[in-house]
Amino acid sequence: MTTFEDLGFKPEILKALSELGFETPTPIQEQTAKVLIETDQDVVGLAQTGTGKTAAFGLPIIHDVEPEITHIQSLILTPTRELCIQVSKDLEKYAKYLRGIKVLAVYGGTDIKAQIKKLTENPHILVATPGRLLDLINRGRVDLSELGILVLDEADEMLNMGFKDDIEEILGRTPENRRTLMFSATMPKEVSAIAKNYLYNPLEVTIGKKNESTNTVFHHYYVTTSSNRFNALRRIVDAHPDIYGMVFCRTRAETKEVAERLVNHGYNADALHGDLSQAQRDLVMDKFRKKNLQLLVATDVAARGIDIYNLTHVINYNLPDDAENYTHRSGRTGRAGKEGISIAIIHSREFNKLHEIERVIKKTFVQQMIPNGLEICQSQLMHYFNKISELKADKEGVSKFMDEAMERLGGLSKEELIEKMVAYEFQHLLNDYKNAPDLNIEPPKKEQRRRNDGDSQGGRQDRWERGGDNNKGRNRQRDNRGDDGGNWEQVSVNIGNNRRVSPPQIIAIINKALGNRRGQIGRIKINQSNSLVELRAQDTSAVLQVGSVKFDGEEVRFAKA
Ligand code: AMP
Repeated sequence: MTTFEDLGFKPEILKALSELGFETPTPIQEQTAKVLIETDQDVVGLAQTGTGKTAAFGLPIIHDVEPEITHIQSLILTPTRELCIQVSKDLEKYAKYLRGIKVLAVYGGTDIKAQIKKLTENPHILVATPGRLLDLINRGRVDLSELGILVLDEADEMLNMGFKDDIEEILGRTPENRRTLMFSATMPKEVSAIAKNYLYNPLEVTIGKKNESTNTVFHHYYVTTSSNRFNALRRIVDAHPDIYGMVFCRTRAETKEVAERLVNHGYNADALHGDLSQAQRDLVMDKFRKKNLQLLVATDVAARGIDIYNLTHVINYNLPDDAENYTHRSGRTGRAGKEGISIAIIHSREFNKLHEIERVIKKTFVQQMIPNGLEICQSQLMHYFNKISELKADKEGVSKFMDEAMERLGGLSKEELIEKMVAYEFQHLLNDYKNAPDLNIEPPKKEQRRRNDGDSQGGRQDRWERGGDNNKGRNRQRDNRGDDGGNWEQVSVNIGNNRRVSPPQIIAIINKALGNRRGQIGRIKINQSNSLVELRAQDTSAVLQVGSVKFDGEEVRFAKA
């Protein structure tokens, strides 16, 4: 096994690594270190965060710094301020026992004067976000004419965020004979183009697979008619009261229209598109970043440069024409170990596009049913109950009104009071959805066969005919299909109201346990600390065999109920 000593790092670096607990090099470090230390070759590393890529480029950079030379020797460009700070901190740790090495991070959104002052101390290594760096270059505060090494870290994210022009301008300010290293989690054609134009005969190292979409994102699709697209969106949002998401549209006009209709229906939504002034755009983004806005409706172009990746959902109101754009969209969720859902609302003629995306991201979309009224009310009620049970009442503040409240309501029984509370909150929703039609449409037969993979289950109706004690409905559906599909068995999942789980999330958990295959799911009952799910016998044994899956960063276990 290769060690850091074998790779030839200076003893001071080895000491720092041993303190950091780095025992052996990770694959990307092992595969790039020798080339980086012993040759001048450029490198393209296809690697995600978590593979040790920072040390892969950081250790050779530290190893090569000459402290007595006072110009900037290495520059690392990162897409976000957070990564910029992280990388500079990591480099400082690796350089802990080497004397006189100065690392400086410069990034936007903070006072530029302090950074200008620090620049006068002649850092050897500069870690920067592109916009701020260009600003500093244009003010004559950064000179890259003697630069030795340039690193483009998370190149795909930088391009995704709209930094292409800035990067090219920065590259133009560096010497031709610089060495260039580029790291990227995916290799869309824009990133390949940068590599082709600015890197010379690079060594290519791939850790994991090219163009893979993030693992923690579930890809779901809902099928409806074009005319019901908006209503389907509303239902999906209604069934996820905790949603914090982006809705992607194809055009400015559609973005405006969808946002306007959402607002008119009382949703906490706004639009981001090219017609907004910078000030308006900043205002919308500030609200969204602070989560004072639940839904941001945007075009791909307008969304570039937005560094928000902690969404619970990404909704493709219309699928993008380019599969790479889908990767960018869906990459805004499922980060930092959290699970996210990327949803496509499609009509029956859009399966080709869906297949094309599946081919590129190497993931399968799982069909979900557009929730019916009962489902939505259940989700919302659950959310409401959770909010009430978790509420820490300001007893002192409320005490002033308690006498009157007791006088007016104290005579009601507990049941009556709860009934009235629920009715007060949900009457309008119940009324709204009272006779709401089923918005789902059957995918074309060819598609059903493809997706069911030989499974003769009738498909969708059974999944959503559950909840309450609607046994009658479900049995009727089964009889109608003339296919009883075997017996239902109950599986217990150790997650319930205590973790604010919703029926769609339970379905996602089961599907995950089934290897992202769409299982046939009967009734779901969500209790305080567990949920009971009806599954077919073969799915029950598959799920029990898997035993557990990760959900929202935590282990969720299955047991026979
Ligand atoms: P990165 O991919 O650069 O974000 O690194 C992911 C994490 O792995 C960071 O917390 C690093 O400190 C850590 N790390 C990097 N290289 C090694 C190594 N050789 N051994 C142990 N941990 C490492």
